[in-house]
Amino acid sequence: MRLAVSVAAILALSAPVAAQSPDFSKVEIKSEVVAPGVAVLFGAGGNIGLSYGEDGSVLIDDQFAPLTDKILAAVAGLGAKPVKYLINTHWHYDHTGGNENLGKAGVTIFAHENVRVRMLTGSTAGIAAAKPSPPAALPVVTYQQGISFHLNGDRIDAIHTHGGHTDGDTALYWRKANVLHTGDLMMNGLGFPFIDTNSGGDARHLVHTLTELIKITNPQTKVIPGHGPVGTQADLIAWRDMIAQSIELVRARKAKGAKLAAVLADNPLAALQKGKGFVTLEAYTKAIWASLEVKPAPAHKH
Ligand SMILES: [Zn+2]
Repeated sequence: MRLAVSVAAILALSAPVAAQSPDFSKVEIKSEVVAPGVAVLFGAGGNIGLSYGEDGSVLIDDQFAPLTDKILAAVAGLGAKPVKYLINTHWHYDHTGGNENLGKAGVTIFAHENVRVRMLTGSTAGIAAAKPSPPAALPVVTYQQGISFHLNGDRIDAIHTHGGHTDGDTALYWRKANVLHTGDLMMNGLGFPFIDTNSGGDARHLVHTLTELIKITNPQTKVIPGHGPVGTQADLIAWRDMIAQSIELVRARKAKGAKLAAVLADNPLAALQKGKGFVTLEAYTKAIWASLEVKPAPAHKH
């Protein structure tokens, strides 16, 4: 629960956050090996994935800049070689905060093209607001639908279907190790998803993307969520089903002419909440409502 509390504390801060940063000197980076050559690092901010082995280390996300040294120490602590590549699951500052440090250290940064676009421009809207990123923090290799890494005895597929949390989400799947890193497409045991409609997030896309990810998993798959503990395919399916059900509950009321205020007063999604994170029932309901306001649904790219 310490992780959940620290994440909530960080993300509850509204922009600009710089003056209110948590005390990073107190943050410990803990590592958990989930399969041979695959680990997750917990600290403050989004969970970090790690591929390590004879070909060098690949990081998935990097939390906050003041934690870079501790993160690299945790990587070394696993006996891993230095970090060669970094993949960002999306642009949010609690997943990309270490980019500038790593970029300057010569790490090659990969991400969906919308991550680069949003980091370049920054945002003033919502709890994920952030200043434009400095050049060294930007992804240097971008893609639209995905890219694959052939290293450390495995194939790691970086997959973008339609996002949903933002418009630049990447999930990573280790084919041999059978590990999925979802980024913030899933937050395990933390209540409701954060659908960042200010960053192109969309509730219906989230369900679509989760369905695509479920298809490549099996009951043995280890699922590293963006926040929360490592989970299973069953957790992923329950998460997707909860969101699909939420959309339907809101959509049905909207179709009958209900106004947002009435839906919020009625609180149809309250019964679906399992666990508690930083996304309130109200914010979640509003994000679904905003997604349903987009007509027609944004075109799917593949
Ligand atoms: Zn996020």
